[in-house]
Amino acid sequence: MNMTCESVRNLADLYHEKIVSREGAQAIRTHLNECPECRSYYSAYLELKKTERALGTAGLSGTQAKMYEELSRKLRRRRYLRIVGTSAAIGAGSIMLAVGILLTCRFNAESLMKR
Ligand SMILES: [Zn+2]
Repeated sequence: MNMTCESVRNLADLYHEKIVSREGAQAIRTHLNECPECRSYYSAYLELKKTERALGTAGLSGTQAKMYEELSRKLRRRRYLRIVGTSAAIGAGSIMLAVGILLTCRFNAESLMKR
């Protein structure tokens, strides 16, 4: 399968997402090996993808970006609450344990004194 530069560049996205057929991917790979222009196009494309991923919301439209931001803020807050909740539970648990030990000690002391 011989591919034109145009179709290779059009398929770059699908090729990157591994949505193209195996034959298609093979043909694109072959073309990329033989065509320096498409190779540099594809590496620029990969570079762009990397930047997009790094920025997170770069590929999204305004509304989507806002939704995404809100969602990640909610998730962050939830994670924060969970951490606070866990340490509060651990704190309460150790206080109860300490009180329990204290009460047991005092109880033992009182019963010793009564004797
Ligand atoms: Zn080409």
